[in-house]
Amino acid sequence: MLLWLWVCPMDDILELGLIDLETWCLARGLKKFTATQVFQWLYQKKVTSFAEMTNVAKQARAVLSEHFIVGHLEITERYHSTQDGSTKFLMKLVDGRTVESVLMPQKGRLTLCVSSQVGCAMGCTFCKTAEMKLVRNLTTAEILGQLIGAQRESEQRISNVVMMGMGEPLHNYEAVIQAVNRMTDPKALQMSNRKVTVSTVGLAPEIERFGLDTRVKLALSLNATHEAGRLEVMPVTRKYPLDEVLAACKKYTTLTKHRVTLEYVMMAGVNDTPEDHKRLARIASVFPCKINLIPYNPFPGSPYQRPAESSIMDFHKYLADRHFQVNIRYSKGLDIMGACGQLATR
Ligand code: SF4
Repeated sequence: MLLWLWVCPMDDILELGLIDLETWCLARGLKKFTATQVFQWLYQKKVTSFAEMTNVAKQARAVLSEHFIVGHLEITERYHSTQDGSTKFLMKLVDGRTVESVLMPQKGRLTLCVSSQVGCAMGCTFCKTAEMKLVRNLTTAEILGQLIGAQRESEQRISNVVMMGMGEPLHNYEAVIQAVNRMTDPKALQMSNRKVTVSTVGLAPEIERFGLDTRVKLALSLNATHEAGRLEVMPVTRKYPLDEVLAACKKYTTLTKHRVTLEYVMMAGVNDTPEDHKRLARIASVFPCKINLIPYNPFPGSPYQRPAESSIMDFHKYLADRHFQVNIRYSKGLDIMGACGQLATR
């Protein structure tokens, strides 16, 4: 069924893609190009009301505002890091729940870390969001709303998006695919496919679909180099064993010719041993990839410690000496609880 047939009154207009909006406009006796005009106002000028869409016919604006709201998430709190210039936003959803997004300036780019769910069902033991359990999925409009809202706050253009905030993006598959495709749509947010990355803990069936449904990049949150270790920190391994996840990633790289980014949160004494060095090198040889080593960010009550700097450097050297593309990613926003694995709201 076409989307416009089941759009309820006062739905958020950001839910609709261009074709659906064109179809909706035609069905209401409006011109097809009204949809393109509305898209420009929403995604390029980032307005918050139909009244501001001054080149759209008055009658069309009236019809649109009878049926839709122009969604925007209310930013209720801002936390600015004094250490690295990053900002964590607390964004309020229509039902009063909140999600967090983190804006991170880096050399020559501005990256937004976006949430896909309120809470998360995956239960990773190193992650504060897991304590919330899954409250609900975000809609496409709410995912896009974080980016549009954060962009309104910044004079510099947000150049990169990482879907690594609260939630497991591939557990909210349809909404996330629509949102990332809207981010990269030349008629919508016009971002480069190479600058949008979706991270997963390893939902193998969705990894295989991902390469067919979008051109944006994939990151696998690996975090352990063997089955038992992964099971300890990421319970999802019970459903999708490591071999199955790696096979899905291999298929993804064959299909798309893209590399996968392997995210590896380093926890002292848990996954930073010399055996881990060797096993990670073996895993990284299975398909084209690059590796991000992420020193663990503790939070109050967290069961793990960050490894010593020497352990981080040893791991990096082992992989770099064997010609893997490897980076150490020190998380931003540590002093505002905005770093990797620290996001959670009440
Ligand atoms: S690391 Fe990601 S997938 Fe795991 S519990 Fe946290 S938010 Fe969920």
